[in-house]
Formats: sequence, C-alpha cells, structure tokens
Amino acid sequence: MIRFENVHKTYKSGSDALRGVSFKIDDGEFVFIIGKSGSGKSTLIKLITREEKPSRGYVLVDRFPISKMQAALVPVLRRQIGMVFQDFRLIESKTVFENVAFAGEIVGMPPKQLTQMVEIVLSVVDLRHKANAMPLELSGGEQQRVAIARAMVNEPKLIVADEPTGNLDPQTSESIMALLEEINRNGTTVIICTHDSNLVDRMKKRVIEIDNGLIVRDELASGYCARKFSESDDSAGGAK
Ligand code: ADP
Ligand code: MG
Repeated sequence: MIRFENVHKTYKSGSDALRGVSFKIDDGEFVFIIGKSGSGKSTLIKLITREEKPSRGYVLVDRFPISKMQAALVPVLRRQIGMVFQDFRLIESKTVFENVAFAGEIVGMPPKQLTQMVEIVLSVVDLRHKANAMPLELSGGEQQRVAIARAMVNEPKLIVADEPTGNLDPQTSESIMALLEEINRNGTTVIICTHDSNLVDRMKKRVIEIDNGLIVRDELASGYCARKFSESDDSAGGAK
C-alpha cells in the first residue's frame, strides 16, 4: 500500500515539483500517473523509491515512512520495488541473461535459485531465446522487455515505470503496456508514469493526473470517480 498525505516537494533550486498531493494506492492496483512534462510525475516516483524525500507531508510505502525511515532500511524498501525507465538502463557489456541476473546478485540470491528465476522472467517477457544476446543487438521494445524482466527477478510487490514507452513506437508501446498489465494480473502492483494519453485512454485503468504539482484528476476509466480528490483542503486545488 502506498499513501501520500499532503506531500510537497521543493527542490533546492526552488522548483515546487509537488504542491500538496494526497492519494492512496492499494496492493494489486494498476495506476497511470499522467501529466505534461514538468508536472511532477518523476518526482512522485522518486518519493516512492526514496531517491528523494518530501519537503512536507507524509509518504508511506508498504510499512516504510519515507521521511523518517533509517537509511539502513532503504535497500530493504528498494528490494520490494522493480524499476523500469524510459532509457532501459541495461549494461551494454553484459548479455541479456547477465543483465537480468545482476539484479538478483546484488541482493544475494543463491545462484541456483537465481538461474531459475532469470529463466522464468525471461519466459514471461518472451525473450528466453535471446538470453545470450547483447542489449545492443536487440530492438528498443526487446530491450525494454529485458528491463522489465530485470525489474521482476526479485519478485517485487511493486513495479514503477517512468515513461517506459517514451522511446518506443506506438505498436511496441502497446505491447509493453500489455506486458505490464499481465504482470499486474498476477498480483504485482504497477504504477506507470506517462504523457501518452491516447494509450492511457485505451487501457481503462485508474488515472491520476498531475498538473503543475497538484492532482487534478483521480478516477477509474469507467468515469466513476472512486477517489476524486482527498478531503484535505491543501490538495483540493480546483476540485469542485
Ligand atoms: P515530470 O516527470 O512530470 O516531467 P519532474 O518531476 O521531473 O516532472 O519535474 C517537476 C519539476 O521539478 C520541474 O519543474 C523540474 O524542472 C523540477 N525538478 C525535477 N527534478 C529536479 C531536481 N533534481 N532538481 C531541481 N529541480 C528538479
Ligand atoms: Mg519525468
């Protein structure tokens, strides 16, 4: 479970990236965070992964209070989160198999179990036949599938993807979204930031829209506004 309560984030530069954001995401949900470039999407993700801390307000991820948690627990938090990025971030000198395995090595997964897990997640993303290929021998869509396999290898409760289709053509983007949807159907919470509103409209999922650091929409695709705006005055900017 993820909870944001009246979260503000002001960077040292003075930039107000988030200006009072409240929402809750339950285990097993599939949620899009949408908004224009610069609206605060990546900042929101970085508060979940604790790459950043809130300037004000409260962020809870699973049982971890992001502001107050001990630094020693950050790796424990991160182990529960699989991360996917726009630019894939694969290691070019390692094979597909080694790239995926590396994420398990870092957390000390026993080699035998790790080999099995890598094979499983490469099957999920349909790339077992490319296990020995190098990343640069793959298409963009295939590289992103490797990155998704890498995000899954430690069996995280949560996958966060920041503009995962930003470098991909529309058709490949659809298949990447379908893959993330399939992973979600198996119980993993999935949060995806994107500015591709066409793709989001077709998927009929919960959408949280941010504009200039404030939530301006939080609704299920059915049109039924399950959690439209929080009770907190601070986050209700323009809600009514
Ligand atoms: P998005 O992902 O929606 O494009 P960001 O969260 O990256 O938005 O950025 C929100 C605002 O915060 C922007 O004005 C951006 O310039 C600013 N910002 C983001 N990261 C930093 C940073 N590390 N230092 C200073 N300002 C930042
Ligand atoms: Mg961003």
